[in-house]
Amino acid sequence: MEGKLIVICAPSGTGKSTLINRLKADYPTLEWSVSCTTRPMRAGEVNGKDYHFLAHDDFQNQISQDLFIEWARVHSNFYGTSKVFVDQGLAQGKHLLFDLDVQGADAIKKIYQDTAKVIFIEPPSVEELEKRLRSRGTDTDKVILERIDNARKELMRKHDYDFLIMNDDIEGAYQKLRDIVARIVK
Ligand code: ADP
Ligand code: 5GP
Repeated sequence: MEGKLIVICAPSGTGKSTLINRLKADYPTLEWSVSCTTRPMRAGEVNGKDYHFLAHDDFQNQISQDLFIEWARVHSNFYGTSKVFVDQGLAQGKHLLFDLDVQGADAIKKIYQDTAKVIFIEPPSVEELEKRLRSRGTDTDKVILERIDNARKELMRKHDYDFLIMNDDIEGAYQKLRDIVARIVK
């Protein structure tokens, strides 16, 4: 059976990590793509599990060696997806799960076309998004404002993908996400 690339895309603070963590627990066979990033580690994050946290020079080296299938600058930091992880996973017929920004989602869709399915998750409003970012308590004011600014741009793209879910009520949103993933991997 052909493996699929399932890309979750949402403005920062929408709740995608919360939803993805539930999905990983319910679908242990989905292989999680651990991205590389230059952003500082947040409290509670684990290097190698949430991200591979890299120094800027190391990230640039990986770009030079062509080790990323896609990489992008998001909110003043760099993020990239391992080429080997994707190639090996697909060769083994696995379903792979990604958390990418719109640039990453576009790049993966362009390369893998219908093998890639992008699920965009939107917040009920930008005001609610700001509340969630503030209540999460992981980012400075400057970072929060940068993420909100970026969110307005990403939200303009919400109709460009395969599926759209609103994360107003977390239970309802999760049920929708689970149903969509069940259809993709069936
Ligand atoms: P993201 O990974 O998209 O940046 P998180 O999963 O970290 O977002 O969620 C941001 C904050 O919003 C967290 O504090 C999380 O508990 C909260 N959150 C997530 N979904 C909801 C929801 N449906 N209603 C209210 N708060 C939510
Ligand atoms: P965060 O810093 O909140 O973990 O993630 C910030 C943004 O970077 C999110 O929109 C997330 O989807 C995106 N992101 C995480 N990993 C990658 C990646 O490997 N490539 C791209 N293009 N975006 C990523």
